[in-house]
Formats: sequence, C-alpha cells, structure tokens
Amino acid sequence: MNYTLLFLIVFIILTSWFAWRYYKLRHGVDQYARIVRQNIFESNVKELGNLSSSVTSVISMLAFQHAALDAERARLATVLEQMTDGVIIADAQGIIQFANPAAGKLFQTSNLTNRSIAEVIRHHQLVEAWRRCQQTRQLQSESVELPTRHQFLQLVVIPDRHSSGSLLLVQDLTRIRRLETVRRDFISNLSHELRTPLASLNALTETLQDGALDDPPAARRFIDQIQIEVDALTQMVTELLELSRIESGQLSLDRRPVAPCDLLDSAARRMALQTERANLNLRVECGPDLPRVNIDLQRLEQVLVNLIHNAVKFTGAGGEIVLSAETTEGFIPQGETTPQGDVIRFAVRDTGSGIPADDMSRIFERFYRVDKSRTGSGTGLGLSIAKHIIEAHQGRIWAESVERRGSTFYFSIPITHPPA
Ligand code: ADP
Repeated sequence: MNYTLLFLIVFIILTSWFAWRYYKLRHGVDQYARIVRQNIFESNVKELGNLSSSVTSVISMLAFQHAALDAERARLATVLEQMTDGVIIADAQGIIQFANPAAGKLFQTSNLTNRSIAEVIRHHQLVEAWRRCQQTRQLQSESVELPTRHQFLQLVVIPDRHSSGSLLLVQDLTRIRRLETVRRDFISNLSHELRTPLASLNALTETLQDGALDDPPAARRFIDQIQIEVDALTQMVTELLELSRIESGQLSLDRRPVAPCDLLDSAARRMALQTERANLNLRVECGPDLPRVNIDLQRLEQVLVNLIHNAVKFTGAGGEIVLSAETTEGFIPQGETTPQGDVIRFAVRDTGSGIPADDMSRIFERFYRVDKSRTGSGTGLGLSIAKHIIEAHQGRIWAESVERRGSTFYFSIPITHPPA
C-alpha cells in the first residue's frame, strides 16, 4: 500500500514536472517565434540557447551571401548599363525579357522589354539569325549594313542552356568599317599620288638619256621639270610625316596667350611677298579689343599660311584676300547642338574660283582635291593637317563658298576666360 502511494506521488510529481517543462518550452518557442519575426535571433530561453545560436549563425551566413549577391548584381547591372554592345535576352517565343540601354540605342527604340524581337530588330537577316538559333540551338552570327541608319551591325545569337530562350549580342561596327574604308582609300590615294610624279621623273630621265643631254637648252628645261617633281614629292612626304605625327597623337602644343590680331598680322607678313607677286590685295580686318587666345602660335600660323596659300592659288590676279578675327559668344559649331562657348572666329576670305557645293563636305579629307587639273601643284593634305591642328586646340574649322565668287575658311578657337 505504501509502495503504491509512493509510486503515485512520484508519478504525480514527474507528470507535473514534465507538464511544467512542456509549458515552459511551448511558451519559449512561441516567444522565440515572435521575436524572430522582429528580426531578433538571440533567445533568452535557456532551453533554446543551442537552437538560437544555430539560427543566428545560419541567418548571418545568409545575410553575408545576400550582400555578396547584391554586390554582384549591382556590378553586373553597371557593366550591362555601361557596355557599348547591346545585350538582349529573349524567351522561346522571341519576347524580350531584358535589354540593356545600348541595345535600345543601337536599334533606336526605347522600352524593349515585352516586345518581340522582330518588332525591335526590324531587319529580316538579323531576325532570321535568331530564328535559326532557336531551331538549331547553335550559335548564329550575322553582319548587316543598314543604309537608312548609316549603321553596320553585327549580331551574335547564343542559345540559353538554362531555358529555351536565347541571348543576343549586338555590336556596332560602323566606326571600324569606316576606318577600314579610310585606310583603303588612303593607300590607294597615296599610291596614285606617288605614281604621277614618279612616272614623269621616269619619262624625263629617259628623254635625257635618249639624247636630250646633247641639247643643252632642252636639257636645262628637263632638269628644271625634274626639280619641280622632286619638290612636289618632298612636300608630299613632309606633309605625310606631319600628318602621321599628328594622327598618332604626337602633336605637342606649346600654348600661350596670344592676341588674335598679332596672329593675323604675322601670317599676313609671311605671305605678303607671295600675294604681291600674284597681284592680289591682302588685308587684315581685326578689332582692337579682342581677348587673347591660348594657342600654339607657330602651329596656328602654319594653318593661316596654308589657308592664305590656297586662297592665292585659287584667286585670279586683281583679287582680294581678307583675314579677320571676331568674338562670337555661345558659338554653336555647324552640325552640332551643344555650344562651344565663347570663341574667336578667324576667317580667310578670298574672291577666287570658289568650291562646288558637292565637294564642300570632302575638302578636309586627306588627298582630296576638287579638280586635279585645275589645282596644279598641291597634295590635298593641307586642309586635313589644318583640321587636326585646330581640333587639337578644341576648335572647329569649316568653309563657305560660292563658285566663281570666292571662298571663306573659318576656324574657331575657344576663349579661356581668366578666373574671376
Ligand atoms: P592642296 O594642297 O591641294 O591645296 P588642301 O587640302 O589645302 O590641298 O585643299 C584641298 C582642296 O580644296 C584643294 O585642292 C582645292 O580644290 C580646294 N580648296 C582649298 N582652298 C580653296 C580656296 N581658297 N578656293 C578654292 N578651292 C580651294
């Protein structure tokens, strides 16, 4: 009996103890669930100490991975945003899921997402490349020229292995193509330009060898002609070297503040004899209070001498050449929209033969001469050298002309205002 009672008492005590433990644990878990919802992971319930420290370490690991993923995503977003190549991700139906800003620019459309590939790309060869990739699940590449948009695009379509969609990479090859054309034209122009004086040197020496040497007056004429051809070749090589030095970025400017009128006066002095011989009137029109410009005097004099030299070549006796300089505030260069700021606009005006409208856009190209028979001597390099020099001064050069009335060559140089 005593044993039964003892057993009952022990049983009641144990049951109450377990019930109490169960109640405490339940309450602790509920409380812990409540605080976890408020992003607090430390529990003050003794029994949950282990669990809470495990949860805390898992949570901090997750937070660390989350931060790393966020940083990775931000880096990727920056790369995609800054890339000049277009990136498009499309699903199996060709609906765009993602496109970076460059893709929008290349296809000249905004809001590419949720639109179809065909609607955005608008070129059957490129759309066909995407279709082929979808069918074969093989990488496809296509290059096309878009004459209406003056663009040359290359598209690479890569099948997405994780989905049935594809990744489209678009590259703008317009500039590279243009450079290739310029290089090809340059080599063909150069060979052509060298062939003419070399052929005439060849003919002159052959004539001398074939007996002209025995006729001193004729020999003298031929030697003079040889001298002219050699001079032309030397000038061409000098100008080519100058151009290549400038184009390879080796043009170092020795800039200092110069009064615009001083620049015009010194160029006019250098060309005075030549203009007088050609029976031309050379004048300088320059306001007295023009602000100074920060320039390489020697280089800009070279530009002016070049322009005056051209004016002399293309203006008949009795004509006039006027050099001028004036301030232009908020100057907007031709064909541009952003103002260049306050500039000094220099001009070399002549009353010569003028330039046909069709040639105007090309006269600053290397070797470009309007009418080779009319030009006589000249390499067609002078204006392209002038353009480089002016642009190295953050300036612009352009021309206006009316055939048989004359031409005006302008260039602008920014005024650097002294700090207030
Ligand atoms: P060039 O050495 O042949 O003069 P430039 O580059 O200086 O080469 O000039 C390119 C071409 O632009 C010239 O060949 C000529 O046809 C034309 N040109 C330049 N300046 C004048 C001008 N003042 N009047 C008429 N044509 C000009």
